[in-house]
Amino acid sequence: MGLTKLQKRIGFIGAGQMAEALARGFISKGVIEASSMIATDPVAARREVFESFDVRAVTTNVEVVKESDIVFVAVKPQYVGPVLKEVRGHLTDKHTIVSIAAGKTLSSLKEAAGDNARIVRVMPNTPCLVGETASAMCLGGQATDEDAENVRALFSSVGRIVQVDEKMLSAVTGLSGSGPAYVFLVIEALADGGVKAGLPRDISVALAAQTVLGSAKMVLETGKHPGLLKDMVTSPGGTTIAGYHELEKGGVRASLINAVVAATNRADEIS
Ligand code: NAD
Repeated sequence: MGLTKLQKRIGFIGAGQMAEALARGFISKGVIEASSMIATDPVAARREVFESFDVRAVTTNVEVVKESDIVFVAVKPQYVGPVLKEVRGHLTDKHTIVSIAAGKTLSSLKEAAGDNARIVRVMPNTPCLVGETASAMCLGGQATDEDAENVRALFSSVGRIVQVDEKMLSAVTGLSGSGPAYVFLVIEALADGGVKAGLPRDISVALAAQTVLGSAKMVLETGKHPGLLKDMVTSPGGTTIAGYHELEKGGVRASLINAVVAATNRADEIS
């Protein structure tokens, strides 16, 4: 199903992995036309990647700002401040700045972009690269509800996005930001179990990954509590409850809770 087309021009400062994933996602879901996007990157090879899917690529950041309404700052965190300072003289009241840089606070973004800038800070995660991000956004002082709606429309085309207060972003980092690594561990371990039980490795990995994908879809699409879905597949005296009991004995539930809390604490320490 196509999403409503956004009547905005989108610019990317930094045409790296994340910018590419976002731009390709927006185009493939029909939320924005390639002709309504523009990107800049000092690396010619990155500009060529964008040109290969019909997005105009230029060499100056100012040009991107002049030609867009929503400007994604998609450079590595250490370059975000300098890039915003470089373009701030060209920001007008038509612009929304979207920063996806890890750890760059709204106050530091405002300091670099100016007091009047409408800033949205987004914390995406790696599955953005395959169109299934779990992202969170928070709004800077000047950002409007319309800015939030536009960013929501864009990120909904490459996964899901929730809106939170900035103080919750460390917890978001601990859960969805770091979460793909926890789930990769789960998939690898399930596949190891399959191999131990006699399955070939490739079959085991495919079954484990598809099981995680399908289970996640059931939670999201049915809206049912995961505990209820678990109860529905554990028949009395059956195979699943036998396996499930081992997970509880191994403390998997507490380990995952501790993992999210440890990563949240670490995000607080380094921000
Ligand atoms: P990347 O290195 O692939 O892309 C950054 C691009 O910016 C590069 O192509 C680089 O040439 C370009 N660049 C460097 N200096 C520039 C300048 N002055 N002006 C314009 N472009 C410039 O990095 P990425 O993985 O796409 O990450 C981009 C941002 O996304 C980072 O701030 C990162 O914290 C954030 N992020 C990434 C992920 C992820 O999974 N990759 C997840 C969450 C957040």
